[in-house]
Amino acid sequence: MHLLIFDIDGTLATFAGITRVAFNQTFEHLFGQPGPWGQVLPHGKTDRAILRECLDVVQINGNFDAMFSKFVDNYLRDLQQALQTASKPRLMPGVRELLERLATNNTACLALGTGNVEEAARMKLRHLNVESFFPVGGFGEFTDERSELLADAVDNAARHFQCTFPPKNTWVIGDTTYDIEGAQALGLRALAVATGGLFSSDDLRRAKPDLLFEDLSDTEHVIKSLNLSD
Ligand SMILES: [Mg+2]
Repeated sequence: MHLLIFDIDGTLATFAGITRVAFNQTFEHLFGQPGPWGQVLPHGKTDRAILRECLDVVQINGNFDAMFSKFVDNYLRDLQQALQTASKPRLMPGVRELLERLATNNTACLALGTGNVEEAARMKLRHLNVESFFPVGGFGEFTDERSELLADAVDNAARHFQCTFPPKNTWVIGDTTYDIEGAQALGLRALAVATGGLFSSDDLRRAKPDLLFEDLSDTEHVIKSLNLSD
């Protein structure tokens, strides 16, 4: 069996600034000043790491776990609201077709590997009607490190699907060098896709992914490249 671990932002979908709006709104509400989201380059980072860096930038100290927990409660409400009022979230090219094909492929299991906290991840995917493809995953509430959330994704998938996935058949699919490095740290394979905007395909190539695509629009080619049998 193969396990395919998908990143969300920049890979499955774009939320066109909605995450930033919600994050900054929550930050301002809780800490009384605008969130310095633009100064921390959130791409590829966990929600936990992003909040920690933002607090460092504006020099707010305190019990981080307590602040993070309060932040998440407020952020989920702000994100839900931002998704309702926004018109621009969309899946990346070819993603729905690819997910539909993979769902009927009996050699592939799907999981999420995202820096979003789980409920934010599910809210975003529900909004685009693709949440049900992902019964399980690794998320951003427990760690600042991408490789750790990917390890969670592998463990949770093994439990959920009652299956041990060999590392050579376990793919991390993402749009940043952090996704690639996280996969490599665990001895997993990396499929990079240059749809995220921050990293060009040349940037991604330098991190030496096993596969690199401009986007996921060529479903047959992606399936073949992953060595999935039909
Ligand atoms: Mg991403």
